[in-house]
Amino acid sequence: MALRLYNTMSSRIEEFHSLRKNEVRMYACGPTVYDYGHIGNFRTFVAVDLLRRFLRQSGYTVHHVMNITDVDDKIIRNAARDGVTVQQYTAKYEKAFLEDAAMIGIEQPKLARATEHIAQMAEFVARLVEKDLAYRTDDGSYYFRIAKFPRYGMLSKKDFSGIRDGARVDLDEYDKDSARDFALWKAPKQGEAAWDTPIGRGRPGWHLECSVMSMQELGETFDLHAGGEDLIFPHHENEIAQSESLTGKTFARFWFHARFLLVEGEKMSKSAENFFTLRDLVLKGYKPSSIRYLLTSVPYRNQLNFTFDGLKQATVSVERLRNFRSRLTTGKFPGGTSNEMQTLARETVDRMQAALDDDLNTAQAQAAVFDMVRRANAVLDAGGIRHEDIAPLLAALGKFDEIFAVLNDDDGPKMKQVFDWAQSVGYEKDISAELRDAVHSGGLSDADIEKKIAEMEAARRARNFKVSDALRAELTAAGIVIENTKDGVRWHRK
Ligand code: AMP
Ligand code: ZN
Repeated sequence: MALRLYNTMSSRIEEFHSLRKNEVRMYACGPTVYDYGHIGNFRTFVAVDLLRRFLRQSGYTVHHVMNITDVDDKIIRNAARDGVTVQQYTAKYEKAFLEDAAMIGIEQPKLARATEHIAQMAEFVARLVEKDLAYRTDDGSYYFRIAKFPRYGMLSKKDFSGIRDGARVDLDEYDKDSARDFALWKAPKQGEAAWDTPIGRGRPGWHLECSVMSMQELGETFDLHAGGEDLIFPHHENEIAQSESLTGKTFARFWFHARFLLVEGEKMSKSAENFFTLRDLVLKGYKPSSIRYLLTSVPYRNQLNFTFDGLKQATVSVERLRNFRSRLTTGKFPGGTSNEMQTLARETVDRMQAALDDDLNTAQAQAAVFDMVRRANAVLDAGGIRHEDIAPLLAALGKFDEIFAVLNDDDGPKMKQVFDWAQSVGYEKDISAELRDAVHSGGLSDADIEKKIAEMEAARRARNFKVSDALRAELTAAGIVIENTKDGVRWHRK
């Protein structure tokens, strides 16, 4: 069955088809790099990552482009406050964003930086002016004339029929009920970053960036455009107006929006002290895999209420999956095959696919894999698993992990990176005892642990008890619990 996806433009779930055979061109609005990314941002970025991974699993080649907004009002203000150039300021946060995205298992899209496309943006404005879709004001700024685009409001379903021609707003984010001519290009104010171009000196507006870079990278019409729900209006509405009025073609065919994340039932805000960056959570001792798992556990169109209880549960869920895999890979099983396990593995793969095909129902896909783990664990306990059952069960887990990406245990090294960063920037006091423990004891990946256990077993069989005892002591000190069972050695993290 084909993927069915909600399209904000039609307000319906539609069957997804790409324009080019087996090839998806998608654009996601990226971060404004003026601060560390918060978990709300990452909810949206993880949702897009999941879509990308599932499209690939479904057989598509995915061209995924994301902008980096590296010039805007906030950036200019903060850079001036810190006495550094815009570029110095944004380089630091772009790096942090990419590190955080990798930490949480996001595959990197092709990046497009606003400041590297200034000439194309100025040219785009010039073409709009030529068609009388934009005009210049006395200070040298340019505005889009929305009265020239009668479909304005079609994405956000707002009725702007009574708009006044020529009313203007020059802020990138503005009152949601007003429709006014928005700034395409801003004339420089005293001391602001600006570029010299054929349309004059200035800098691009935020909406213009995304139109220009997406079409440059993906063509005038591409398959899908994504972002958080707050971007529907005005940002995406403005992108459509600029692009479609110029090309006369559909800009993006599917509009994908992730619902906002709440924290303990409240809107996240710095003043409410419920505002968390990804690094804040790791400093508290939570694993990147737990955070990713939690962010994927609620389908992207449902409200995700982030809670610390939920995060702890996510940690347990990931642990159960990893332990199950380790039981399969380290156990010893009699030859042969069991019908029950073969069928279970096959049905689980089908259920996961059906769930994700259904507008990316991640909760159902996770439920399917946990049913498999529960039932297979029971059969494992009863000694009913046969050697030939292992491959299909592992394959089902692998299929799950191509999308969810939590099985590989590299939490230790990632947490160590955050630990080192906190020390290097003077945030020692924010390092929790839990993170300290994890870093000092952990740092061992699943593969490291399995290698040490194999060495320990080999030493024991060779009756070299000094070596086997030393290895066991080392693992115990690292918080690894080792049990000898009739299926062989099993382990889990404390
Ligand atoms: P920004 O860096 O503010 O431009 O935001 C980057 C992305 O994060 C955009 O797609 C936003 O829509 C999204 N975003 C911001 N806050 C939240 C939130 N609380 N929940 C989900 N997505 C968010
Ligand atoms: Zn955008």
